[in-house]
Amino acid sequence: MTVSDDQPWRDPSAQPFLRIKGLSKHFGSVAAVDKVSLDIYRGELFCLLGGSGSGKSTLLRMLAGFETANAGSIEIDGQDMADVPPYRRPVNMMFQSYALFPHMTVADNIAYGLKRERLPRAEIASRVDQLLSMVQLGDFAKRKPSQLSGGQRQRVALARALAKGPKLLLLDEPLGALDKKLREETQFELMKIQEETGVTFVVVTHDQEEAMTLATRIGVMRDGEIVQVATPREVYEYPNSRFVADFIGSVNLFEGRVSEDGEAHMRLDCADIGAEIYVGHGVSCTPGQRLWVALRPEKVRVSTQPPAQSHNVLQGVVDEIAYMGGSSVLRVRLANGKLVHVTQPNLDRDDAHPVSWDDAVYLSWGDTAGVVLPV
Ligand code: ADP
Ligand code: MG
Repeated sequence: MTVSDDQPWRDPSAQPFLRIKGLSKHFGSVAAVDKVSLDIYRGELFCLLGGSGSGKSTLLRMLAGFETANAGSIEIDGQDMADVPPYRRPVNMMFQSYALFPHMTVADNIAYGLKRERLPRAEIASRVDQLLSMVQLGDFAKRKPSQLSGGQRQRVALARALAKGPKLLLLDEPLGALDKKLREETQFELMKIQEETGVTFVVVTHDQEEAMTLATRIGVMRDGEIVQVATPREVYEYPNSRFVADFIGSVNLFEGRVSEDGEAHMRLDCADIGAEIYVGHGVSCTPGQRLWVALRPEKVRVSTQPPAQSHNVLQGVVDEIAYMGGSSVLRVRLANGKLVHVTQPNLDRDDAHPVSWDDAVYLSWGDTAGVVLPV
C-alpha cells in the first residue's frame, strides 16, 4: 500500500468522494454552519469533532438531505446533491437514539429497508445473515431490542443502517448512549466494520478521545466553522490554534513576545512564566510579536536536580499529584503562581516517583517540544 492509498488527502490527483463547498446554514441570526468547505475521500472514517452547538449535526443533516443549505454545494461520488431528495441519496444516517422498532426482532429490524425495496426473500435472508455475523449478533436474530444490551442495540442499528449498502454512512454521536468501557470496545468494532465494508463514514462526536481513536482525519468545528482538518496525530501534535490545542487533550499555554527572531531559532519573553522560552526552529514572526507556546504535559520533564540543559528550565513547587493508574498528573506552581501540568508515565508498579507534594522541582523541555501559535 502506498502512502496515497492510505492517505488519499495527500495525493493532489486523488478525487474526493464527498465534496463540500462553501456550505452555510442559518437559523434566524445563527450561522449554524458557516461557509464550510471540506473534501472527504472514499473509505475514510472522518470525524466531525466540536463542542455542543458547534454545528456538527446540522452539517450532517445537510449531507443526508434533511436540512436545506442557504448557500454552497454538496457533491457525492461526482453527483451534485442540490436536487436529490434524502431517499435518493447514496447515504444513510444512524441516529444516537438508534430508533429500532421495539416490536420487531433483530433480524426484522435489519431486514426492514430491504423488505420495503421488495427484494426476493432469499436474497433478504442471506443479506441479513451476513450483516448479523458482521456485527457478531448471529445468535440474537430472534430477540427483541428490549432483550439486548445497549452495545448490542447499537450494533443492530449499525447493521440496519448498512443493510441497503449505502456509499456513505452518517453517524451522529453513535456511541453516545454507551458507558465509557463499552464505548471504547465498540469504537474498535465500529472501525473494524468500517474497514470490512469499505463504506465511507462521517461520524459526529463531541468526545475528543473518541475522535482520536476512530478517525482517519478529524475536522474540528467551532461556531459553525471548520477550524482544522488533519489526522489525529497532526491535530494533537500540530494544532493550528490555541483553541484546537486546548480542545484536544490537555495543554500548557504560555504567552510571550518575540525577543529574538533567528533563522533557525527564536526566543520568547514570557512574563506569563517569568522566563524565556527558546524555540529550536525558525518561526515566521516579527520582533515584539505576541505569540503562544502550547506545551503538552507529557513533553515536560520533572527533576529534583537541575537538568543539564541551559534553556527551557523552570523552577516550581509540586502543588498536586493525581494518580491516574497508567500515569500521574503533577501540577507544579511557579514562583509567580502560574500552574504547569506535567504527565509522567507510571512505568513501575511500586511508587517510583522521585517527587512528592511540596517538593521543589525543575521543569524542562526540549527546544522543539512546544508548538508556537500566533492565534
Ligand atoms: P451540534 O450538533 O454541534 O451540537 P447543531 O448543529 O445541533 O450543533 O446546532 C448548531 C447551532 O444551530 C446551535 O446554535 C443550535 O441551537 C442551532 N440550531 C440547530 N438546529 C436548529 C433549528 N432547527 N432551529 C433553530 N436553531 C437550530
Ligand atoms: Mg449534535
